Amino acid sequence: MRSMQVVRIIPLGAHPRDVSFQSLIMGLEQVLPLQCRVEAIPMDIDAALDSSRKQYHSTELLANLVSLPERGEQRVLGITPYDLFIPVLTFVFGQAQLNNRAALFSTFRLHNEFYGMPHAAETLQSRCLKEALHELGHTFGLRHCLELPCVMNSSTYVEDIDLKPADFCLPCREHLQDVC
Ligand SMILES: [Zn+2]
Ligand SMILES: [Zn+2]
Repeated sequence: MRSMQVVRIIPLGAHPRDVSFQSLIMGLEQVLPLQCRVEAIPMDIDAALDSSRKQYHSTELLANLVSLPERGEQRVLGITPYDLFIPVLTFVFGQAQLNNRAALFSTFRLHNEFYGMPHAAETLQSRCLKEALHELGHTFGLRHCLELPCVMNSSTYVEDIDLKPADFCLPCREHLQDVC
């Protein structure tokens, strides 16, 4: 039997507003055979800020995570309250290394308030879980999935996130069982 995969969850910048890490961890551990723990490591992410776009360069933040010394964990998952971009896109919800160690996502566009709607704690929490599962799925080698009930569907808009479940379809699940 393989040893339990450990995921270190690392806040990048400030702790995301109104997000419960405890509930996120419970959600992740329910779906994946993973053990998650939060580590508040001070990280200097200023260099990743594009001051004209007022967004952080996602790939650079990912590089910050990759540069962390390994401490027995299999994955690092960064969470940031700041808006993320890659140069070819106006924004990204998150980014991950395919079949590798690091992933991250932003809560910036997961808040209802961003879309001019009233705060909804459960919606926010559910979107966070789906983004975390999706990006971690990439680190375990999963690509975007076309099966409709699957968290590995790609999401362009927040509505896409709301439409997919916080779970993997059967083929994606079988892949995870082989690698997790
Ligand atoms: Zn993706
Ligand atoms: Zn799938």
